Amino acid sequence: MRLLRVLVVLAVFSSAAFVALNVTPTGAAEYTWNTYPTNGYKIYLSPSSQGNQGCNGYVEKFGARDIGYEAAAGYGNDLVARGYFVKLGSISSSINSRMLESETWNARMHIAIHTNAGSTACNSNRVASNAGTWTIYEPSSSSNATKALAEHMRYYVAGASPGTNDIACRHNTSCTTYISEMYTDVPYVAYYEMEFHDWPTGVSFIRSATWQWRIGWAVDRWFGYPPNMY
Ligand SMILES: [Zn+2]
Repeated sequence: MRLLRVLVVLAVFSSAAFVALNVTPTGAAEYTWNTYPTNGYKIYLSPSSQGNQGCNGYVEKFGARDIGYEAAAGYGNDLVARGYFVKLGSISSSINSRMLESETWNARMHIAIHTNAGSTACNSNRVASNAGTWTIYEPSSSSNATKALAEHMRYYVAGASPGTNDIACRHNTSCTTYISEMYTDVPYVAYYEMEFHDWPTGVSFIRSATWQWRIGWAVDRWFGYPPNMY
């Protein structure tokens, strides 16, 4: 029992040393939070690097980055407060470099953060019933981005978004084209479209710093509230 405890502590220290020696191998990370005390789990947040514009001057990559900051270390019970190591990818980097960074860092979960509607600026047909929070899953049984995970991540976040068409949708179908990031090689891969940025109500929601703690809640629930290790 005592030996096991020592081994666990050593394992944690060596993984912490690994982080220190391998800071941003691709130069992609915007910020890294080395949280103490920690539960030992690493969460990689991968914000969209797309310049899609929405209503009221909204630009997707800046919105996604700000969601990431809030989810990591913002208002409320964010990921850092919950004891996770967190890395936020850079919006100046490519999807490939963020995937590689997440894998090299040995993230436990990779979470892509986008807002929906592509380059549609402001769409008068967007209303609550056709807006909402979407998550994406990959149907293959060998995928790290399972439907179960997508449904879970949707459930804990979507209750806050003003749109009511909150869904987990299958990758590479009518809801989304091919996304290479679905195949990030870490144990769990989640992909969010956090509301639509082509209606003012959606943009107001995306920009408000009141709901991003739910990402930490979802992660906690998925991993069973991992206890602090030291
Ligand atoms: Zn996007």
